Amino acid sequence: MSMMLRAHALLKDIFGYPAFRGRQAEVIAHVAGGGDCLVLMPTGGGKSLCYQIPALLRGGVAVVVSPLIALMRDQVAALHEAGVRAAFLNSSLSQMEAAAVERGMLTGKYDLVYVAPERLLTPRFLDLLVRTPLSLFAIDEAHCVSQWGHDFRPEYIQLSILHERFPNVPRIALTATADGVTRKEIIERLGLDDARVFVSSFDRPNIRYRIVDKANGKAQLLAFIRAEHDGDAGIVYCLSRKKVEETAAWLVDKGVRALAYHAGISVPERNRNQEKFLRDDGIVMVATIAFGMGIDKPDVRFVAHLDLPKSVEGYYQETGRAGRDGQAADAWMAYGLGDVVQQRRMIEGSGAEAQFKRVASAKLDALLALCEATACRRVRLLDYFGEVAASTACGNCDVCLDPPQVWDGTVAAQKALSCAYRTGQRFGAGHLIDVLRGNDTGRMRQWGHDKVSTFGIGKELDENAWRAVFRQLAALGLLTADGEGHGSLRLTPASRAVLNGSQTVFLRLQPERKKTAAKATATAAREDKFATFDPAARTLWEQLRTWRAEAAKKHGIPAYVVFHDTTLAELVRLRPRTQNELRQVPGIGVHKLKSYGDSLLEILRYQG
Ligand code: ADP
Ligand code: ZN
Repeated sequence: MSMMLRAHALLKDIFGYPAFRGRQAEVIAHVAGGGDCLVLMPTGGGKSLCYQIPALLRGGVAVVVSPLIALMRDQVAALHEAGVRAAFLNSSLSQMEAAAVERGMLTGKYDLVYVAPERLLTPRFLDLLVRTPLSLFAIDEAHCVSQWGHDFRPEYIQLSILHERFPNVPRIALTATADGVTRKEIIERLGLDDARVFVSSFDRPNIRYRIVDKANGKAQLLAFIRAEHDGDAGIVYCLSRKKVEETAAWLVDKGVRALAYHAGISVPERNRNQEKFLRDDGIVMVATIAFGMGIDKPDVRFVAHLDLPKSVEGYYQETGRAGRDGQAADAWMAYGLGDVVQQRRMIEGSGAEAQFKRVASAKLDALLALCEATACRRVRLLDYFGEVAASTACGNCDVCLDPPQVWDGTVAAQKALSCAYRTGQRFGAGHLIDVLRGNDTGRMRQWGHDKVSTFGIGKELDENAWRAVFRQLAALGLLTADGEGHGSLRLTPASRAVLNGSQTVFLRLQPERKKTAAKATATAAREDKFATFDPAARTLWEQLRTWRAEAAKKHGIPAYVVFHDTTLAELVRLRPRTQNELRQVPGIGVHKLKSYGDSLLEILRYQG
């Protein structure tokens, strides 16, 4: 049988899938044929199969380098569920257990072994590899070689040794980090100059991007969860540990099953929370960016940002953790002037070199442009990653669904800028808005600002509208908060052209939230397999989920390792009656059929 026919047979028999996705088949053919490559695929794109299937095709052990000890066990458990001979080696094993795995490698007991990089690099282990028949090296999360990213792992840099010591063993490096700089770094540092590069589209069509004006972030988040994601698993990103703690506690208080995760929490507790998030249904994880790399939970239904990420890359990476299973998911962010001020200050106050600050500022500007976009966010996002082809509006982001109005805000901008100027460039937006609206506060008289020429000249806009004006002026670089005071806004060199009328300013007006009806239809129209079940289907769905939870518990694995939601949904839709029919359901391979087929048929039999 030709190699690709065998690859297809493995896909169907082991993993239960009818067809390869995207560039999987090409990558598999290349690696199985002994070639090196770098695979850039978005999260959820199906990177694992790109090395798992060649591992099975080639004979010998595939060594998979993975930076995340906590997740290796689940990855291996998922392979066991599919009937693949796999093991992991990391510091969570006892010496005896590790020795047993190492012996097993020599005697051909495994097709895949997952290894932490620090262990792989020990002379002892490299020595063991010399004596082991090897099929390939897979370097997962390859962007960990990049010193620019926050996932940097020093040991990754030394992985170039694999190439030197084992020149005949093919290497496949994989990452979901899309930007060109990281890509170059990976190629250089891992010595992949001659490797083929497979780049997939980074579009995630099932993710709906939404960026809302921040008024009271927490309350907006709660309303969003209650309205659209009651009982769903989700991730909420915050900038600081303190805010993570507060937000998690607040959500719990409001009845949301939330947990916290950040680098300041003790390792055992952190792992416990992560474990819960992975294993239980419907947990909301409130976290700093320390959380998320390698989390392959497929049914995260939303990722929310309560603070602005640092870059478009960060935003894409973090939001990408939603909807790996391909089902509808949301990327939701609340963003306001405070975020712009805070991020700019963090860059200014970072004490880094000028060059670094320039890069960081440019990255922030690109993200702010995405936040203030008046045309499709997805197009902008993909454009940032160099995907020019993606130029048609997506119909699945807030801008497409609820287009903002663009208005000539030149006069408003002039009023805002001169108000900042007249009051000495020492005040934040709150006070400046009071001055513009002529609010007679105590502070007003204290500072004599009821006498300045801009007092009360902005009554035509309400407070929210003014807040949006200030936010956009800051985003556009027409106001800056880099001074000493807390959030005090100052003019920039670019402000002059606006003040003297030689430059027009177009601003974005968020549509009023009167559109609840329109929004509801948009939501219903989404391709959401689970929401459209009739009552009988709903019952079956719930029964299958309960059964799955029990099975997962019994085997000590996450529910999604037993079956994905998508597989359960197909069971509901197709109602298979025989083992043979079950085999046609995506996600059910030979081994899972043997393990679970009878139980599933029994549940399905009771349903009409
Ligand atoms: P990545 O590592 O790229 O984020 P995974 O390898 O975890 O993605 O795959 C994402 C999901 O897609 C997994 O649940 C996997 O089972 C599923 N998947 C991968 N390839 C296919 C395929 N060819 N057909 C159907 N589902 C697939
Ligand atoms: Zn769009």
